[in-house]
Amino acid sequence: PFDVLVVGGGPSGAAAAVYAARKGIRTGIAAERFGGQVLDTMAIENFISVPYTEGPQFGSALENHVRQYGVDIMNTQKAAKLVPAATENGLVEIELESGASLLARTVILSTGARWRSMNVPGEDQYRNKGVTYCPHCDGPLFKGKRVAVIGGGNSGVEAAIDLAGLVEHVTLIEFDSVLRADEVLQRKLRSLPNADILLSTLTTEVVGDGNKVTGLAYKDRTTDAAHTLDVEGVFVQIGLLPNTEWLTGSVELSDRGEIAIDDRGQTSVPGVFAAGDCTTVPYKQIVIAAGAGATAALSAFDRLIRTGVP
Ligand code: FAD
Repeated sequence: PFDVLVVGGGPSGAAAAVYAARKGIRTGIAAERFGGQVLDTMAIENFISVPYTEGPQFGSALENHVRQYGVDIMNTQKAAKLVPAATENGLVEIELESGASLLARTVILSTGARWRSMNVPGEDQYRNKGVTYCPHCDGPLFKGKRVAVIGGGNSGVEAAIDLAGLVEHVTLIEFDSVLRADEVLQRKLRSLPNADILLSTLTTEVVGDGNKVTGLAYKDRTTDAAHTLDVEGVFVQIGLLPNTEWLTGSVELSDRGEIAIDDRGQTSVPGVFAAGDCTTVPYKQIVIAAGAGATAALSAFDRLIRTGVP
């Protein structure tokens, strides 16, 4: 069996694997797609000490770093089920979709998350060409420009407030007739001179010139009238879905489906730790996920030395 088995190969899983392997213990990492979400992005400018890199390059750097250690890398392997240990110091089992099973003394879950998309024409075509899901990552790219934020929950309203300080103008678009964000955030947004709010509004298309976003088409749900907004950026903030469906019933999840962890990365199941975007950690960013992966690996190692292994 593995001493540490990491499930997920993004920044958090890669960091966990490196930290575990450097303890000289038997480490494995199973990932559906090694690299994780960063493979879907271009510019990364906020991973500290690296002023600029690109997603695919960063993703292969993660893999190269893990390969420098004797880590058993199982790429394109999707975990389907976690079976907690039968006894206190027993083995945790991870069943893969392929039908194979992996056994480990400790497991680190780092399966990440995915952004909920609008599913309208143009959204996929202009992804990373004006359509973005991360104000912390891409806000500065739209300095002095006009942008729209889709979604009136806390993350949408926070994004609009954040962007208003950088861009020329921001329009927040909400499908419902009310915003769901906390009142204090709504008040802040309404006080900003360069922010507008459109309620009861259905986004129908991301419009572009073939290379980049030029506007957003929408329908006023009260009158059914169609309009177009001139914007160069569209920030979609309608939810981040953790990749944890496969853990329902085995590991405690929050009401948003995030794996509940304590400040050491411990989950509700003994010997099972978690890190990164799939957990309740606040703020979903590469540097935060990588740090959390290190925390989870050190906690797993701490458990191993306390339970007599290695
Ligand atoms: P992920 O990167 O999501 O990795 C999850 C891993 O788990 C993947 O290997 C996946 O294949 C695997 N997996 C999922 N389910 C299973 C399963 N059942 N079995 C096995 N493996 C599984 N952050 C920044 O800090 N700066 C940026 O500039 C930035 N830009 C971004 C741009 C885009 C387009 C996106 C989508 C995100 C961006 N982020 C950025 C956010 C950042 O990518 C995430 O915070 C970070 O990747 C989280 O790392 P993670 O390891 O927790 O999860």
